[in-house]
Amino acid sequence: MNPLEVIGRKRDGLDHTPAEIQLLLDGYVKGDIPDYQIAAWLMAVCIRGMTAAETLALTQAMVASGEVLDLSAIPGIKVDKHSTGGVGDKVTLVAGPLAAACGVSVPKLSGRALAHTGGTLDKLESVPGLSVDIEPERFIKQVREIGIAVAAQSPRMVPADKLLYALRDVTATVPSVPLIASSVMSKKIAAGADAIVLDVKFGRGAFMPDVASAKELSRVMVELGEGAGRRTVALVTAMDNPLGRSVGNALEVQEALDALTGKGDEELLEVCVRVTREMCDLAGVSADVEKVLRSGAGREKFEQMLVAQGGHLERGLPVATVQVAVNAESDGHVEAIDALEVGLSAIELGAGRIRKEDRVDPAAGFVIEAPVGAQVRKGQPLVTVHARSRELVDGVSARIRAAWKLSDRAVRRPPHVLARVARDGITEGG
Ligand code: URA
Repeated sequence: MNPLEVIGRKRDGLDHTPAEIQLLLDGYVKGDIPDYQIAAWLMAVCIRGMTAAETLALTQAMVASGEVLDLSAIPGIKVDKHSTGGVGDKVTLVAGPLAAACGVSVPKLSGRALAHTGGTLDKLESVPGLSVDIEPERFIKQVREIGIAVAAQSPRMVPADKLLYALRDVTATVPSVPLIASSVMSKKIAAGADAIVLDVKFGRGAFMPDVASAKELSRVMVELGEGAGRRTVALVTAMDNPLGRSVGNALEVQEALDALTGKGDEELLEVCVRVTREMCDLAGVSADVEKVLRSGAGREKFEQMLVAQGGHLERGLPVATVQVAVNAESDGHVEAIDALEVGLSAIELGAGRIRKEDRVDPAAGFVIEAPVGAQVRKGQPLVTVHARSRELVDGVSARIRAAWKLSDRAVRRPPHVLARVARDGITEGG
């Protein structure tokens, strides 16, 4: 069978055999099959979908396209954590060190900002001197010695995903459950941990629009992880509003440092504690996560990790030269903060990238002064904009003000963790 026939089969709604999927991926990675044919196939997959068997075959072929990290030199059960992406999502920076402080080994490979969502690597790199490019030997040594390392994935791992992702990004073929599930899980499987906790986000600032699609994505990813012999649990969490009180690289590192002493936004602390508990359970570690959080041991672990990766917190995190409050134009209660608009405005400030080669401004971003549920009076600040120039602030002011939806009536913050998905099924409310 040639690639055209394989593409035609998906166009017609037929199921692929594993050999057909292998043929497409092998040909693409080797450069024998051009982008336009794979783009046509991706669109057919978006429209026609994939069965569980096809999604598994795609994931396996993606893992097999590159190297797999061997973590057997780290004793015990190694637990990875992954978020499908959000705005203000600094959960890895809190839950990773907190889990390590509880005694879990956390080898974590992370990504950079994607579309309007932030990336853990960009956040960490705001710490002066810190490196996320760590060779496997040093990565393993660091996890053995201090329990956690957060690094960039080597380009030799899952090269098929790198190629497919770049193509999906520019062909409107990102939002597809089998494509997202295989993309995420191939990277997690290749990263070598024994167990995986997934934070699957839905809402305005996420790739999944609603709770139903996030549950479906979670179910498929849990099945793929368990099928590959990795214990996998997913929490379905809300991303209509930005998470926590800051958006932007250095600002989020500072918020994570504070959260690691138990101080900060309730919702952020809730999701971090929930993720950490799941990590501990999968590792077979019994710990009182909230007590460890209050003890500050997680913060110490985070600081140890930053130092091990060359970071110098004592030099201070980058601070924006211009900080300007954007105020409410009327009285009201904050009903919602549009996470997508906040994420896109953060990119305009330089906190994310417009082109692949752009450098991010580590100090740029927003501090949320009036979170969902807060009551504000006309003229009081909704948000403080951190930027490198007044022009940049002026450029986003109207857009960021419009992201705040005010109501005449008192607002209760909506629940944040909506469901827990594991091999034994879905638990509503988590
Ligand atoms: N994150 C990934 O790694 N892949 C996707 O397809 C979407 C989000």
